[in-house]
Amino acid sequence: MDFLRPASWEEALAAKAEHPTAVPIAGGTDVMVEINFDHRRPEYLLDLNRIGDLTEWEVGEESVRLGASVPYTRIMENLRAELPGLALASHTVASPQIRNRGGVGGNLGTASPAGDAHPALLAAGAEVEAESAARGTRLIPIDEFYTGVKRNALQPDELIRAVHVKKADGPQQYSKVGTRNAMVIAVCAFGLALHPETRTVRTGIGSAAPTPVRAKAAEEFLNAALEEGGFWDNGKIITPSVAKQFADLCSAGCNPIDDVRGTASYRRHAVGVMARRTLTWTWESYRGTRRTIEGAA
Ligand SMILES: Cc1cc2nc3c(=O)[nH]c(=O)nc-3n(C[C@H](O)[C@H](O)[C@H](O)COP(=O)(O)OP(=O)(O)OC[C@H]3O[C@@H](n4cnc5c(N)ncnc54)[C@H](O)[C@@H]3O)c2cc1C
Repeated sequence: MDFLRPASWEEALAAKAEHPTAVPIAGGTDVMVEINFDHRRPEYLLDLNRIGDLTEWEVGEESVRLGASVPYTRIMENLRAELPGLALASHTVASPQIRNRGGVGGNLGTASPAGDAHPALLAAGAEVEAESAARGTRLIPIDEFYTGVKRNALQPDELIRAVHVKKADGPQQYSKVGTRNAMVIAVCAFGLALHPETRTVRTGIGSAAPTPVRAKAAEEFLNAALEEGGFWDNGKIITPSVAKQFADLCSAGCNPIDDVRGTASYRRHAVGVMARRTLTWTWESYRGTRRTIEGAA
């Protein structure tokens, strides 16, 4: 196995163009497990750790440009206000050691349906900045990024440079079911983001379909119900029947399997429970913000 160690992004792209089968390695928390278990024996490893830009982030007007290798710990410590859903999801990843090494670029590279960043990225709205030496940069909408079980939209000569995640304009939540509270791959997970500026709600479901998915029918139902009832303006409590219908549609948006971590029917049930809870939490938080604004006026 050859070890390629580019010193710059341009060198990394050139190396990937020359050796399209080279496996990029960032934190190595997925790649090294695969190599140690002999699930993968790449001819080349492409080490991205000398490229400093990949561990940096920029907070813009509307979105955060998150370098592909920014570790989860940094997201939790530095981007909680801008990216609350992703920060909460980061908290649930593995252990402090893994969170110090692993990042969103690696989660996207692996594209496991159980990866914790995915539901948060789907709910917030994100684009993956991919680049190749031959064709330059393109932005891949997160909804189009996951193409199958552990498959993504990257071409063999492409690398992920950054992820552009929309800054929160309202409350966000992330919920995960596992067999214990830490160091656990999700049995299933759910991300929810309220977007008061556009009066929309977005969801993300993890580990309950071949790829991470949004519950689009549930979003459409809730968007219409909130609009019809004037909820965004009157800040009323969401009625239990609306919350239940939303939860049922989220369950219906799953396409899970039975496996060692859980059954399909349990996953459907748990996604519904998480959908109802995260809706209650985020909506209460939204109502609280409205009361504070009205009180100050
Ligand atoms: C003990 C343990 C517990 C874990 N628990 C969790 C958990 O709770 N939740 C969870 O989501 N994950 C978990 N993981 C998996 C892993 O930590 C995450 O998927 C992490 O985000 C991977 O990031 P990394 O930087 O280490 O990726 P790496 O292992 O370096 O790479 C992962 C994949 O992405 C590709 N890649 C990396 N960077 C790029 C890039 N810039 N461009 C293109 N491709 C790239 C690699 O080639 C590889 O295919 C766990 C792993 C371990 C070992």
